[in-house]
Amino acid sequence: MHSDTSPKAMRAQAVQAIGLLRRAAHPDRRHLGWAIFWLILAAGLEVIGPIMGKALIDEHLLPRHLDWPRMATLLGAMLVTGWIASGLRYLQLVRLSGLAMRSVQRLREWVFSHVLRLPMAFFDRAVTGQLISRVTNDTEAVKSLYIQVLFAILDSLIVLVGTMAAMAWLDWRLMLIVLALVPAVVAIVFLYQRLSAPAVTRARALRSDINGQIAESIGGMSVLQANNAEARFGERFGATNHAHYKARLAELRANAFLLRPALDFLNVVLLAVVIFSFGQREMNAIEVGVLYAFISYIARVVEPLIQITMQFSGLQQAVVATARVAALLDEAGAPEHDKDKTDHAHAAPPGAPAVRIAHLTFGYAPGQDVLHDLSLDVPQGAFFGIVGHTGSGKSTLLSLLLRYYPSRHGCIEINGQPLDQIGNAHFRSAVGLVPQDPFLLAASARENIDMGRGLPLAAIEAAARAAHAHDFIMALEDGYDSPLGEGGSRLSTGQKQLIAIARALAGEPRILLLDEATSHIDSQTEQIVQLAMNELRGRVTVIAIAHRLSTIRDADRIVVLNHGRIAEAGSHDELMQVDGGLYQRLYLLQQLAA
Ligand code: ATP
Ligand code: MG
Repeated sequence: MHSDTSPKAMRAQAVQAIGLLRRAAHPDRRHLGWAIFWLILAAGLEVIGPIMGKALIDEHLLPRHLDWPRMATLLGAMLVTGWIASGLRYLQLVRLSGLAMRSVQRLREWVFSHVLRLPMAFFDRAVTGQLISRVTNDTEAVKSLYIQVLFAILDSLIVLVGTMAAMAWLDWRLMLIVLALVPAVVAIVFLYQRLSAPAVTRARALRSDINGQIAESIGGMSVLQANNAEARFGERFGATNHAHYKARLAELRANAFLLRPALDFLNVVLLAVVIFSFGQREMNAIEVGVLYAFISYIARVVEPLIQITMQFSGLQQAVVATARVAALLDEAGAPEHDKDKTDHAHAAPPGAPAVRIAHLTFGYAPGQDVLHDLSLDVPQGAFFGIVGHTGSGKSTLLSLLLRYYPSRHGCIEINGQPLDQIGNAHFRSAVGLVPQDPFLLAASARENIDMGRGLPLAAIEAAARAAHAHDFIMALEDGYDSPLGEGGSRLSTGQKQLIAIARALAGEPRILLLDEATSHIDSQTEQIVQLAMNELRGRVTVIAIAHRLSTIRDADRIVVLNHGRIAEAGSHDELMQVDGGLYQRLYLLQQLAA
């Protein structure tokens, strides 16, 4: 991902970033106020120091007017202001860091809970590695935006203004000479921007590539090794890594050349000019203290300027990162179903089908419909099978029944209620799903079936028995408490499917959707699943997608999808009567293959 660096885009990003920052810091705004107050106080005290030093030199040391009590008072005051200033800085830093970290924590929670509610369509486009870095790294950028950037710049500006004011008060002509430094610094900052910004952007993009490649390789390690692709992936990684190094080096060169050396040089020039113009005037003893104060101040003026320049690229990065988080938070969430009044077990109107689909048309992308004008009624307690070629839209149909994609034409009703009007909790408990690729958590068998619902062990066991998963679970070393490994890596694919079936059954759904639930299990286990489904008959409405036609042979009705349209529908026997029909052909082919 390459970020846009045009001034207009950057301004928009800055507005977005500041908006988010204000929202994240809002609960802590009093702390923020105090931190700023202490910062101003500390900076002010630091500016007073050299003025007292000047008084000490001009009024006492040079005129040899050694008034000890008064000198001791001045020295003591210098010490005390210095001490108070550092104490205030400590307080300010602690407050500010706490505030920044709380903002990050708050923001991370927002972002993650927002991501959890995004519609499935979002995840079709999302890259996992990038999403992770939004939630972890980019939210962290908010912290640096506060501490390293906003406060460092604010601090520098306050010190700068205070110092300039003090200088003007001491000797305004000398102050003007120092002020002439500002355009030179602006020029350096500008040059620095031109040189380092592209390198910074490139380095960021490359780092994101590096993360992506690592994530991809680890995720697909078995495929990678099986294809003997280790060397190729290693080389690709090496190339990206090297490009990243080069980009960082370019950035470093710009830093190393422009920041310290160039500005330090300015510091020396300034000192020389001030001392020179000082020498031009007739030497007046009283002004030596002013010279002392100016020399102290010049260091203080240059330092914040260096700081501001150095923070500039940090500022840019942090703004970009924060704007990315803001953009993610702006991503429209899935439609809110929770506030619905109808969130309770809804008694189906008499005669209403469990599922009614009428004139349903849907496409993932505009103008590319996957389902065309589909109409289908599934009576209560019926067992429906859906078959069709790969890509005919079977899984898509289930996704729509599960409300993953809210935008569509036509209507879907469940128990006589339009899909969109059913409260979320009720909907999720009424509809169970066994997905095409079973997703298992890196947790125990029990937790995998429970899925955070807090079901009693008896219910979990009953579901596992119904799914015929009980026996192999008990064969694991700790039975239901045995960890299944990441993604259920300790189980065979068929066993994972059985766990997924048990998980769906444990919720006691009234409608059960199965997507290829028998594709990875042997014929014997398939018969067991068929048995389990027959046991559900009449109590649970089952809609099962199956490539293996034997699974749905006994279905009340089999719907054959072809290119997103219903080509045929009927019982197995009816469909076998259609000579040359799609189902008949599919079935005979599978008989041949068996
Ligand atoms: P299979 O038997 O292989 O599982 P299927 O009938 O379940 O196939 P679907 O997954 O519904 O097929 O896909 C139907 C069409 O929609 C395909 O052309 C596919 O490319 C497209 N499609 C599926 N999922 C998406 C998605 N998330 N984004 C865009 N297009 C998709
Ligand atoms: Mg599918």
